[in-house]
Amino acid sequence: MPRTKFLQLAEVFERLEKTASSLAMIDILADFFPKISPEEAKISAYLLRGELAPAYENLEIGLADKMVARAIAKSENIKVEKVKLLYNKTGDLGLVVVSLREMSRRDKNLKLKSSVVRRPNIDFLTVKEVFEKLIEIARIGGEGSQDKKINLLADLFSKTSNLEAKYIIRTILGTLRLGVGEMTFLQGLAKAFGAGKKDKEILEYAFNVLSDLGEIACIVSESGIKKISEIKPKVGAPIRVMLSNRIQELEEIKDHISGLVSVEEKYDGERIQAHIKKTGETSLFSRRQDNITHQYPDIIDGLKKSFAGKEAIVEGEVVAYNEAKGKLLPFQVLMSRRRKHNIEEYVKKIPVRYFLFDLLYLDGKNYLKQPLKERRAVLERSFSDKGGKKINPINFGRYAITDDLSEIKSYFNDSIKRGAEGVMIKDYSGIYQAGSRGWLWIKFKKEYQKELADNFDLAVIGGLYGAGRRAKTYGSLLVAAYNPITNKYYSFTKVGTGFTDENLSRLMKMFEKYKLKEKHKSVETGMKPDVWFEPKIVMEISGAEITVSPIHTVAKDKIKTGGLALRFPKFLRWREDKSAENATTVEEIYNIYKMGVKK
Ligand code: ATP
Repeated sequence: MPRTKFLQLAEVFERLEKTASSLAMIDILADFFPKISPEEAKISAYLLRGELAPAYENLEIGLADKMVARAIAKSENIKVEKVKLLYNKTGDLGLVVVSLREMSRRDKNLKLKSSVVRRPNIDFLTVKEVFEKLIEIARIGGEGSQDKKINLLADLFSKTSNLEAKYIIRTILGTLRLGVGEMTFLQGLAKAFGAGKKDKEILEYAFNVLSDLGEIACIVSESGIKKISEIKPKVGAPIRVMLSNRIQELEEIKDHISGLVSVEEKYDGERIQAHIKKTGETSLFSRRQDNITHQYPDIIDGLKKSFAGKEAIVEGEVVAYNEAKGKLLPFQVLMSRRRKHNIEEYVKKIPVRYFLFDLLYLDGKNYLKQPLKERRAVLERSFSDKGGKKINPINFGRYAITDDLSEIKSYFNDSIKRGAEGVMIKDYSGIYQAGSRGWLWIKFKKEYQKELADNFDLAVIGGLYGAGRRAKTYGSLLVAAYNPITNKYYSFTKVGTGFTDENLSRLMKMFEKYKLKEKHKSVETGMKPDVWFEPKIVMEISGAEITVSPIHTVAKDKIKTGGLALRFPKFLRWREDKSAENATTVEEIYNIYKMGVKK
């Protein structure tokens, strides 16, 4: 297979950028991927999402716009001030390169070096060459690293055409925004290499297990769908977590689960998936797959002491714990463990307990498709619960196995008294549905008994300037729910209450890097905020009632007379553990709305 030029990929980027339709994106991807080699498929999968590795590796190039401006000035052989001037006008360094080069054709005085590479017979860089250069730049560290990065980048720019330079720059700055959602990408692969709906499900399963679009693109392009269906978890690659649905009354359990359930305390902490390798090396991943190993040396140490096998993937919830009183502490207390420095000091200051509740992989065996009963038994055989002693924070989460509703009710009441936020009710014979929110796990919290079931985790898509005390910041934020099928964000409400002064003062800075010139192509709303944001940051809010509105767009296709909107919203907290694609879905909101209408 001939080596694919980066220019071809840049052309694909351009076509993707120009469309907001996920069907059109699927066609573009399905057309491109069969034409390239498996290795190029892997690389292209990462680059399409603006990444250099699977998202969980968090490999960033680490260059700010000022540095990139210097690299452009160097490659184009002009003063950096000139680049900055144009940048201030366009707000996009990718476009600055294009206009600089356009100008050079008209203005010979600029004498741009890179005009050389626009000769028709030049040898364009391959996808692999560009990728390897970007990786090299990303990995440079230590003294003088900024200058080294700038030099390499300038050299790379000088070998590119306009279109290539534009997309390389946006990749480096993290502003690529082609809007290809994970599911859209997998649908593209299914269309390219598969035969139908079932193949899409196989690819989705593989992604849920490996969380690595590049690896999946490579395998499917090399060996086809069958190989993909045999995929097993890989220790060190986070499995996408299984999620739960909510009910409003415990009586509803029987509508979804028949037979025994495991009713468990729902701890209000942070979910952690722990990966223990044969070498003993252990990594901890958050719910959104950030590697948070460095935050919890006490858990790493505890796992080492209590694990009896060779390698494993387990899940549990870490909670701040008052050792003297033997009490669970709220989530906010745990958050002060989220830091880069002085970890050891905080390990002592804020002790934690890690409540294990599931086992997904052990010593070469994949447990995802085993019933919970089996997973739990193996978990308890492979780890020892030394929770009673202060020296080891590893505990098993509390649970009871029953099919008796009155027992579930009293378990719920006891859990609340102990400081839990509610209970999880799990089908005891259910498998682990990685990456999906099904009915094998059900959550029930104390606030569900009130009028509106649960809070919402919504992506911030716009800001409205404040007045009076808030004149220098946003007075309110426009927030949206996600629909993974359409790959779009639908506005649900505008939030202006619940912020502390400290929160308010941080807003401008916090959203600065997500500001857009116009509405993001994956956003649907009838509201016009003062500033549009790329959907990245997620906040948890409460509300009093869901109504139909002419402005908001949640479930608009189902309601017809308008979209769903949340009344009296109140900011509760930032959900740093969730990415925008993990926001509450349109379907979940529609289900809650229907529950209310039925009553
Ligand atoms: P929430 O905002 O209610 O925590 P979520 O969207 O993060 O919800 P859900 O599937 O709705 O995720 O609720 C399950 C979450 O509850 C898990 O992600 C985990 O962090 C937490 N949790 C606490 N105790 C348990 C438990 N025993 N079993 C499973 N999850 C638990």
